[in-house]
Amino acid sequence: MSTDLSMFTLPSGITFIERGWLSSNNILIKDDALAVLVDTGYWTHAEQTHTLLEYHLNGQPLNTIINTHLHSDHCGGNSFLQSHCKPIDILVPSGHSEFVKNWNPNILTYEPTGQYCPPFQNTGILTDRSEFTINDSPWRCYSAPGHDPHSLIIFNEEAGILISADALWENGFGVVFPEVEGIKAFDDVESTLQLIEELQPKLIFPGHGQIFANVSDALTRARSRLKQFRSAPDKHGNYAAKVLIKFKLLELQKIRKSDFNVWAENVSYLRNLHKTYAPTYIYSKWIEELCIGLEKSSACLIDANFIYNTN
Ligand SMILES: [Zn+2]
Repeated sequence: MSTDLSMFTLPSGITFIERGWLSSNNILIKDDALAVLVDTGYWTHAEQTHTLLEYHLNGQPLNTIINTHLHSDHCGGNSFLQSHCKPIDILVPSGHSEFVKNWNPNILTYEPTGQYCPPFQNTGILTDRSEFTINDSPWRCYSAPGHDPHSLIIFNEEAGILISADALWENGFGVVFPEVEGIKAFDDVESTLQLIEELQPKLIFPGHGQIFANVSDALTRARSRLKQFRSAPDKHGNYAAKVLIKFKLLELQKIRKSDFNVWAENVSYLRNLHKTYAPTYIYSKWIEELCIGLEKSSACLIDANFIYNTN
């Protein structure tokens, strides 16, 4: 499935920093006058993000952070960078701006996902069709709801590069979080995939995973996944629950079972999923079965006292 990218040379000033799954990828776009970073990873990696940036900036100051959306793995480094790269602008999607201003970890999803994001302050907003220009080449934001209702994707038409965030990955797309809250959003996923198709990007910089070029195959895979989720929403519910658990394991690497159970008790998105898709199960039993499912797919190891992240 992986693409031979040797035929593509990125235009000068564009650096794609591929991270793991706990932290989103970071994209640095700069010319002599301006350096813009798209997405900052998870907070536990903030120092590493800063070190990577210093290396790629080579003495140039970072001027602006842009967040495609405000999930903890995309803006967790904002606070650290805000205090280490002063002065810096932080631009966030307009729909979540007021909840950054009056910090609301519930609406920003950090509490219901059982994750964390250090508070930061934005200095501006981005809306559908917001633009910024670097090296005389415009990057345009587009509303891309589905995975997150306020998410943006960012397109440079000249280079054919699309920063797709979690709206399109090489093999699928991110959890459709509004659905976890009981809000219908599969149609939004489809309209965002449609938008991506219409933009006709040549290269995708996804929020997670490597750069890829075969966009039409990725769209086909994403649409087939969406079709599965539409016909069996419990499959999406199961996927979402496993993603939430795996994210915590990626963060902690090793957790005592009793501590994990306390964490899971308090994750309201897991509670919602349980209520919707497995109400006849005892909650703790349902969580245990999800963990066993993750172990079967080699995503974790479980012994008498601990759960260990693997891969
Ligand atoms: Zn996300």
